[in-house]
Amino acid sequence: MNCNSCNSPEYHDFSKPSCFFTKTQLTVVKCSDCGLIFLNPRPDKKLGLEYFENAYSNALGFEDISYYRDIDLILRRNKVRFESINKLPAPNRKILDFGAGQGHFVKIAREQNWFAQGIEHSIAGQNSAKQNLGIDLLSSVNELNTSDFGIITLWDVIEHLEDPKQTIIELSQYLHPKGYFIIETSNIDSLDYIVHKKKWSYWHIDHLFYYSKTSINFLFHTMGFRQIINYTIDNTVKKSKSELFKKLIKMLSPKNFYLSLKLRLISYKYKDFDVKSLMTVVFQKNES
Ligand SMILES: [Zn+2]
Repeated sequence: MNCNSCNSPEYHDFSKPSCFFTKTQLTVVKCSDCGLIFLNPRPDKKLGLEYFENAYSNALGFEDISYYRDIDLILRRNKVRFESINKLPAPNRKILDFGAGQGHFVKIAREQNWFAQGIEHSIAGQNSAKQNLGIDLLSSVNELNTSDFGIITLWDVIEHLEDPKQTIIELSQYLHPKGYFIIETSNIDSLDYIVHKKKWSYWHIDHLFYYSKTSINFLFHTMGFRQIINYTIDNTVKKSKSELFKKLIKMLSPKNFYLSLKLRLISYKYKDFDVKSLMTVVFQKNES
């Protein structure tokens, strides 16, 4: 399988972790040219879909890992997202949520006076949005009759796509020339990953891609987009690494001199890394 970002056929082994939930063995490789990290070979598609439908739709037996068990939390989280989104100088107030899940983001967007539409391939997600929130999600971009969205969002979606590059290219035809893509995904260049490695909670059978800030930037760069640093949306707890390491070093007694030295070295080595595993990045088309 060639690299989705740069089409290179060259890759090398990266890791062999197990899916955090299903414990299925995953084979993770890294593109030798652009550094994109992805599953290769991909797990049986049927297993991924089954897990996906169950995990994301409150199905029996999956209550503990369902992402939608705490509706209040989800709605609150989406409200926090709008604190940043409302500050973006978007060219209009039309927003499209791709991979809309059960429609919570679309609901909050409409409450915040955005013209909002959502696309969701999962029938379970569409049904839930309709039944619980009274929101009609669309099945594909072909059903859209607006093609100048000021913002297109993908919350925890890009890592699930079979062909992220192709999907972004398709979606960009529905984006206003001065519009923004907002992407949230896991960040493999995070201290959370460095600490957990094979035990990282983001290794999932249905997560086909594991981006870093560098590799997602590169992907969008190949499609003529640039990252908007000033408007980076950060849902994560703001705690600087130096603060975290200082606290850890302080906790160690003088007996743990070597451990404390090791922590100081790690803290220096990873000084540019983010602490948390989730990153939200914003892109805009380069001016031609
Ligand atoms: Zn590549």
